[in-house]
Parts: sequence; structure tokens; C-alpha cells
Amino acid sequence: MSIILETASKHAIATIGSHSALQILKGGKDEGFRTIAVCKKDHSFIYRHFGVADRIIEIPSYSEFHVAENDLLMENAILVPHASLIAYIGLEAVENIRIPYYGNRRILLWESDRNLQRRWLEKAGLNLPRVYEEPEEIDRLCIVKFQGAKGGQGYFLARSSEEFYEKIGGSKDYSIQEYVVGIPVYIHYFYSIIRGELELMGFDKRYESNVDAISRIPAGLQQDIDATYTIVGNFPLFLRESLLPEVFKMGQSVVEASREVCKPGIFGPFCLETVVTPDLKFYVFEISARIVAGTNVFMEGSPYAYLKHGRPMTTGRRIAMEIREAIEQDRLKEILG
Ligand code: ADP
Repeated sequence: MSIILETASKHAIATIGSHSALQILKGGKDEGFRTIAVCKKDHSFIYRHFGVADRIIEIPSYSEFHVAENDLLMENAILVPHASLIAYIGLEAVENIRIPYYGNRRILLWESDRNLQRRWLEKAGLNLPRVYEEPEEIDRLCIVKFQGAKGGQGYFLARSSEEFYEKIGGSKDYSIQEYVVGIPVYIHYFYSIIRGELELMGFDKRYESNVDAISRIPAGLQQDIDATYTIVGNFPLFLRESLLPEVFKMGQSVVEASREVCKPGIFGPFCLETVVTPDLKFYVFEISARIVAGTNVFMEGSPYAYLKHGRPMTTGRRIAMEIREAIEQDRLKEILG
């Protein structure tokens, strides 16, 4: 064990102080790494308060992440990405980051472009909600989404093109999807390159304002409220055990299809965002090709990861464990992209 810790301690795990950084940094420490949070000044308090970072590098703004790069290189850091890293720094800048990066960076392009994402999911043979190219085609309840919307903000529902034009305002960068009526289930996976195996990390559901508030109002008053989908938090979820084979099948197909669309494919954590209908079919409306904040509900370990590993295991810790095993087996290159 001391040799293992010695190996890990020659490297540091670094991430941007936001999103799932508490989990990533704690996981890094649990696996014996030094940990670094790169933060805006007003956020650094959080990482100090929870004691998850051995070092905090303060930067003036996230767009100036490059300011921290030399320090991170000197620390022998491996950067673990999350959604805020990509949102704050930008896809192009992420591609140019000089620090060793955990995961396949090029897959982010497939994730961020709706058409590429759909091609990937179609190739994987998953059920997808119908997409409408033109508002005039709307023939059922649809959800209208905006590019780059953070956490579902501003999304709206429409039943017809008339309703669509009433609600759209000036925005042109939208996409229209069939609204699948069912239970939203976010599936968290981890594909290990080192072990050559897909793992299930857990499920969550989201708590969104104001759509989750509507049932608290008498039915007669609900018509006056336009549903919005701004995420506020997440709940853990246990799925019917009989659905697990389908869950693994979907995850495996996504990994296999990713190897065809963007070599060497997806690895590490990813999430399928689904709606499950009353006939127990999963409709996948989005994929996130990295850790998602829904995994934060399992800060003390997810039940499925516990079953698999026999100890509390978060997605953050699973990432660090993968990096540690890669270092021990001299395979680090395979998990950096
Ligand atoms: P984000 O950009 O935050 O990932 P999502 O695409 O997850 O936004 O959507 C936000 C909300 O809208 C979620 O509650 C999700 O359940 C719901 N939603 C998204 N697409 C569909 C769909 N096609 N059918 C039903 N609900 C959907």
C-alpha cells in the first residue's frame, strides 16, 4: 500500500473549483494524491472549508485559466474535467490546455454539437425522442431547448407552432424535441480503460424549478404557470433491479459506438439522460461525456459502486483510482487525451 501511495503522491489531481470539484478532490485524496483546486478568489473559501485541496491556486476569472498552467505543470498535475471547466473555459481553450487531461477531449465536440450527439446515440441504437427541424412540423407536446442553456434555464413546452411562436421571443438558436412523458432518470456510468469494463455508478433525478413545484398547486390554478426546468438540486434514485440489464446494454452500446465516431472512444464517467415511459422504455434525450453534478448525491459512495468495489466509492474517487492504477501499470498515456 505504501508503494501505491508513493506512486500516486508523485502526481497531483487538479480541477476547477465548481460543479463536482469537492467530490473529485476528496476522491483524489482518498486514493493518495495531492490535490489542487483552481478557483476564483470568492470560491476558494469552499475548498479550504471542506479541506479537500492541498493547494488552492486563485485566478482572476475562469477565462484566465492559462494563468495557472505553469504551476500545474510544475506540480505534475492531471486535470480532471467537469461541465463547468468546459462551460467557463470554452471548448477551444480546453483543447489547447497543456496539462495532462483525464479523458478523451475530442469527444467533447461530439457532446456539444446536437447533431453529432444524435448521430452517436443513433449509432448506439438507443431510443431517442423525435426531433423537429421546423416549428411548423410540431404535432404533439414538444420541449424547446436553447444551445448552451445552463441547467435547463429558459426551456419551454409547446403543443403547436402557434404556441411555439408565442413563446420563442427573439431567440434563433433552439432545438425542438418531442416531450416524452415519463420519469426522468439520469444514469451514471464509468468506463474503465484499465480494467476494460463498464461500471454503473448510480442514478439520480433532478429537482427543477418550477416544474417540480406545479403539483403543489391546486389543479385549477396550474394552467397559469409556464413550466420551466432550471435545475436546483438532485436526488438519489434506485432503479427496479429488472431494468439493470437494459441499463448496462445501453451504456455498452454508447461506448462501442463512441469508438467508431471518435477514437479511442469515450472512457471515464459519462451520463445518459433518459425518460422512462410507462411501458418501461428508456428514451435518451442527452448524453454528458464527463462527470455530471448528479453524482454529487453519492458523496458517501453509491450503492452500486459499493457492491462492485466493496468500499464507499464516488465517481470522483473512481476517477482517481483509475489514474492510480494506470500509473502503477505504466499505462497513464492510455487515459489521457
Ligand atoms: P440540461 O441542458 O440541463 O442538460 P436537459 O436537456 O437535461 O437540460 O433538460 C432539462 C429538463 O428537461 C430535464 O428535467 C429533463 O427531464 C427535461 N427534458 C429534456 N428533454 C426532454 C424530453 N425530450 N422529454 C421530456 N423531458 C425532457
